Amino acid sequence: MSSYWFAGRTAILATMHRKEAAIAPLLTSAFALEIVVPDGFDSDQFGTFTRDIKRPADQLATARLKAMHALEHLGAALGTELAIASEGSFGPHPLMPYVPLNRELVLLVDRRHGLEIAGHAATPDTNYSHQQVDSLEAALKFAQSAGFPSHGLVVMPAAEGSDPTEIHKGITQEDQFREIVTATLKRHGRAHLETDMRAMMNPTRMKAIALATQDLIRKLQQTCPQCHAPGFDVGDRQPGLPCALCHAPTSLTLAALYRCAQCGFTETVRYPDGQDFADPAHCAYCNP
Ligand SMILES: [Zn+2]
Ligand SMILES: [Zn+2]
Repeated sequence: MSSYWFAGRTAILATMHRKEAAIAPLLTSAFALEIVVPDGFDSDQFGTFTRDIKRPADQLATARLKAMHALEHLGAALGTELAIASEGSFGPHPLMPYVPLNRELVLLVDRRHGLEIAGHAATPDTNYSHQQVDSLEAALKFAQSAGFPSHGLVVMPAAEGSDPTEIHKGITQEDQFREIVTATLKRHGRAHLETDMRAMMNPTRMKAIALATQDLIRKLQQTCPQCHAPGFDVGDRQPGLPCALCHAPTSLTLAALYRCAQCGFTETVRYPDGQDFADPAHCAYCNP
């Protein structure tokens, strides 16, 4: 049981923007962990979604930086070597470029056991978008399509490199939105609007963070048959599931290779998706 690794321990949740609302209850109920959210942890120093601070590295590297930073500064004071960090990204869906995709990652770093395990979620359920407008009417139309006011918005001048004091985040009131858009249009002619993707401004994103947390919990609960370390998960998938009609190998998964990051134990599981044959729709011969 992986709860043995975590029960009674304290984990620092290296986050701001109230992401703990999505992450903490799920983890505490799964592992009897105590989760501490440090006051004034400035995760924005690791980059923000709006263009004021550039993000440094990929999602995993950024989450790792946050977790390490928290452990370095607070680990000793809190007597813990366990930290959790989360990181999201937004961009076009790899297969459908017009569909936005929200990827969320929740990372657990356990320095006592040398563990680093990440839960993932990828969902097209996001309001992520931006638009340049030259009228209040167009701005209000964008706001409506972006789920405002339950989802926050960002307003700034349309030109890059503008004055940071003219970047207004976290707008959730319609009169405030009208006022800022009107002032920006008056001064600059055009305004750049975008959805505020910070978790506390975006209930849809909160749901995606909860999904990634559930994925992390699932992985933590899968333990290595040899050394019992948590995080025994699929490292590689081998294609070749035979077609149900002609038995030719397809691109669907025939076997999943599980690997333990702690002791290196591997296990091959055939037919991991619970089916012995592929639908002929996936067959290059039956359905060319
Ligand atoms: Zn192992
Ligand atoms: Zn076939």
